[in-house]
Amino acid sequence: MKERHMYDVLVVGSANADLTVRVERRPGAGETVLGTDLMESAGGKGANQAAAAARLGGRTALLARVGGDAFGELLLSAQRDAGTDVAPVIVDEAARTGTAMIIVSPDGDNSIVVSPGANAALTPADVAAAADVIAASSVVSLQLEIPMESVRAAAAAAEDAGTRVVLNPSPAPEAPLAPELLAVADPLVVNEHEARQLSGLADGKPGEWAHALRDKGARSVVVTLGGEGALVLDASGVTEVAGVRVKAVDTTGAGDAFTGALATRLARGDALPDAARFAVRVGAAAVTKPGAQPSYPTAAELDALSG
Ligand code: ADP
Repeated sequence: MKERHMYDVLVVGSANADLTVRVERRPGAGETVLGTDLMESAGGKGANQAAAAARLGGRTALLARVGGDAFGELLLSAQRDAGTDVAPVIVDEAARTGTAMIIVSPDGDNSIVVSPGANAALTPADVAAAADVIAASSVVSLQLEIPMESVRAAAAAAEDAGTRVVLNPSPAPEAPLAPELLAVADPLVVNEHEARQLSGLADGKPGEWAHALRDKGARSVVVTLGGEGALVLDASGVTEVAGVRVKAVDTTGAGDAFTGALATRLARGDALPDAARFAVRVGAAAVTKPGAQPSYPTAAELDALSG
């Protein structure tokens, strides 16, 4: 039995400022339209997952890069408010903080331009410098909004240290995942879109996607199914976790809330199906409020929602 870790969850990933404007209609080429007041909020898949884990009481740290600008400050302060240890975050004076410029039209469709900024400068050397933090964490949670070689370096360092890897391959890559990356995913957490793309089974069912992804090398698989909940495939077989009925207001960042919650519970020793049951409730709570990080529940808020 290993000694107790310093962190339950270390997230290695992206941090973005989400800059959102609602418009009556999207501008065409060369056109200008007026929008609502600018909304700034903390986002980025890595930062979202860290905030979700920390708000639920998980001892959480974030390894990310932000620029030495006001958006970087915004992101750091959101993490501190959530309870994340931001000591591993690198403030990069030579880069701008990553931003997502989001235009929301009345039909609810988003058009998004992402400027990776400092996220693109998170290198394998940064990951190597954090080897002690990786070894001091029960679970490392990874997504794909930082350079792929850095994701692979983090997965390899976690494997060396005996730290469990939760891998959320999002945004879904065009190319197949490297076999050695897939091989450490325990679990691989995919939504329906990612499951179709990475399994190669565009027309399959969730159980088929999960089996295909395990056949490709993942140690275990979780497919999230929006309002329908999730499907888990691990050594105990397939477990279907029913969704929680809620009034969905904004599904932004629901998958990140799910993954952060899942990582926290795995770190505390839950079996994967139990961790997924908890994470489905957290994902449901997250869709009942606007925004990504601002919608994430504390443990007490989650209990109140679930009655
Ligand atoms: P992503 O946000 O990555 O597309 P999903 O849409 O599968 O992922 O949502 C992730 C999790 O969030 C689901 O497993 C579920 O727990 C919760 N969730 C998402 N949409 C809803 C909804 N409409 N009602 C209830 N829960 C939801």
